[in-house]
Amino acid sequence: MRSLNDRNRAEGQSSGNSGLANADQRSLLRLIFLTTGIALGFFCVLQALEGRYLLATFELGATALLLWASARITAARNVTLWIYVFLLPLFCFLIYILSMPGASVTAFVWVYLVPMLSYLLLGRKAGFVLAAPFITVATGSYLLRSGIPQGPSGWIDLGNAVLCGLLVIVFMHLYEVRRAGAQRALQDMAETDALTGVANRGYFQSSLERSVKAANRSQSPFVLVILDVDLFKEVNDRWGHDAGDAALQHICRCLLGRLRETDVIGRLGGEEFGILLANTDRDAAMPLVEDLRESIASTCLSHEHINIALSATFGLAQWPIDGESPSMLYRSADRRLYQGKARGRNQLVSRDEA
Ligand code: GH3
Ligand code: MG
Ligand code: MG
Repeated sequence: MRSLNDRNRAEGQSSGNSGLANADQRSLLRLIFLTTGIALGFFCVLQALEGRYLLATFELGATALLLWASARITAARNVTLWIYVFLLPLFCFLIYILSMPGASVTAFVWVYLVPMLSYLLLGRKAGFVLAAPFITVATGSYLLRSGIPQGPSGWIDLGNAVLCGLLVIVFMHLYEVRRAGAQRALQDMAETDALTGVANRGYFQSSLERSVKAANRSQSPFVLVILDVDLFKEVNDRWGHDAGDAALQHICRCLLGRLRETDVIGRLGGEEFGILLANTDRDAAMPLVEDLRESIASTCLSHEHINIALSATFGLAQWPIDGESPSMLYRSADRRLYQGKARGRNQLVSRDEA
């Protein structure tokens, strides 16, 4: 079966980062702002004791800014912009410090922070693109200062610095690949119904809430469809629970084959499913939903050499005519679904009975 995770992920991405990844990134950024702010405050005191008052004032300002940012980041809108606003000046400042004539050679250890922070905050690709030029400039600056090594001990010093830097980059790269993969898997598990692969009830509910917000902004209608498999208990009773499970998967395949990438399908519970048809009104949705109903009713499920006939009843509601809030819209679609059941099943009801 074509995985619904990809469809759900595409839908999730179009509405911004996932909640899980976003909250994770914000709390990491907050921690980094706090620790760099405190570290810079410490250096500010040292610079002042050395009589470098201009640098100390600059570091004091940066400390205050970082502590303020750590308090604001949880409510910030564009986290990626904050990351670049933090990393770019920080890395430029580091290069400036390294190129100062009196800079200590041990200051170069801070260069190892460049790939770490970039990968942790921006991920593999963007992290590499940001870190590579700064590492190159820092390495050039180191060679300019110390010159080409003359003897074995000079080459050992350079080898230590370069090898350690390369290992940091390789480990960060491998860590980020595994972390991103594990986070994706976790997110799929949290959003997907294990039996059918479609969105689970929680994810469908939040998609419906997002659709209502987006429709309020764009004022373009969308449609909610709820469908319930007819006489499904009989399928279980007659052919067994495995056949019932296969029937639910078969129905999802039928739905998936006909819907767009932007539409969301979710299992609301038992043998009841929800479909969100984006940027569509009732008149445009009705032929499509009729087509879905027909496709389920006309294709028998072949399970262990038996053909099982299935059908489903559909209730349809359009935002905002049939309900402006998610719960009102859901109630309209559900009411029509049960009107269809009462009328004999295997049908679509898109308006209330007179
Ligand atoms: P109606 O046309 O009125 O909807 O009749 P129905 O038989 O479909 O409705 P009912 O609510 O009586 O039965 C639903 C059945 O779905 C009962 C339950 O055992 C079964 N069911 C719920 N979840 C699953 C599941 O994950 N797998 C299987 N095989 N059966 C399930
Ligand atoms: Mg049913
Ligand atoms: Mg039911």
